[in-house]
Amino acid sequence: MTVGPAPGPDSAATDADSPEPLFRQLTLIGCGLIGSSIARAARARTLAAEIVVNARSPATRARVAALGLADRVEPDPARAVQGADCVILCAPVGAYAELAAAIAPDLAPGAILSDVGSTKQSVIRDVGPLVPRGVHFVPGHPLAGTEHSGPDAGFASLFEGRWCLLTPPPGTDAGAVARVGEFWRAMGSMVSVLEPAHHDRVLAIVSHLPHLIAFTICGTADDLADETRQQVLQFAATGFRDFTRIAASDPEMWRDVFLNNREALLEMLARFTEDAQAMARAVRWGDAAYIEDKIGRGRKIRRSLIELNQA
Ligand code: NAP
Repeated sequence: MTVGPAPGPDSAATDADSPEPLFRQLTLIGCGLIGSSIARAARARTLAAEIVVNARSPATRARVAALGLADRVEPDPARAVQGADCVILCAPVGAYAELAAAIAPDLAPGAILSDVGSTKQSVIRDVGPLVPRGVHFVPGHPLAGTEHSGPDAGFASLFEGRWCLLTPPPGTDAGAVARVGEFWRAMGSMVSVLEPAHHDRVLAIVSHLPHLIAFTICGTADDLADETRQQVLQFAATGFRDFTRIAASDPEMWRDVFLNNREALLEMLARFTEDAQAMARAVRWGDAAYIEDKIGRGRKIRRSLIELNQA
């Protein structure tokens, strides 16, 4: 199911159309790039009467308070979810099981529990069994981000024109799915509902594998001798520079993504390795037509992305 198109930035000023905020109390567990962007967008568009943030470290809690991102900053996740009608997990996916166990007894009946994690089968596996009866679990994943992390890195327009994928397990209350979809559409996203395994395979190729390649290529360059490394950095204004931007992403977040989408990532890596070997063979044997064809396909893909407004 696809819901769209995205409302433009003007939708921030639609208070007259929807006088009631979508949620009474929105609680965000974790407040880095994604959590703080949700806080900013929800506040700018009056999507919640109250925003409560739980963050792990005192430094992040102090920053969230100083930036005015929340009405209340709570050090205890269980207290943070008390009274919330919508809770969104915004921490790395490897922390979800522990966080879900900590908040489950305090989730209010009828509340929505959602998340923004980059893997979806693992989230359903780790969180699903801990969700109390009467709480609606609607996993989600905004396809939006940058290589920066932490509460200072977020911005209210991050989700505008970007997809948000929802992967509700079978039997999830349709009304809850619709409300979460409405929330993301109100922040400017286009919303689509996907089967979790399908989500993980698609994301493995479009996001997780490119990050794996970027981290690897930067590691390979770093392993080179000192003299060469200096030249790598000195002359980085080529393709390498784009890899370094991706490779600057948060290590904890990406460690968890790799470990929690293991099967799909390894499958895509195996296919990629075969294709890279085929390219190596073409280079070795001077198969110009093969090389040109592959490069041509790359250009075509780039053009389609630009046409789809996703470049
Ligand atoms: P981030 O900027 O690094 O922020 C992570 C937040 O989670 C911080 O508030 C951090 O607290 C907290 N946290 C980390 N480990 C925790 C733990 N063990 N227990 C409790 N809290 C913990 O990361 P992000 O980019 O916002 O990513 C958050 C989620 O969004 C991840 O699940 C990721 O897969 C997903 N996502 C990311 C992107 C992207 O491009 N970055 C895009 C879409 C979805 P401290 O600051 O106190 O350490």
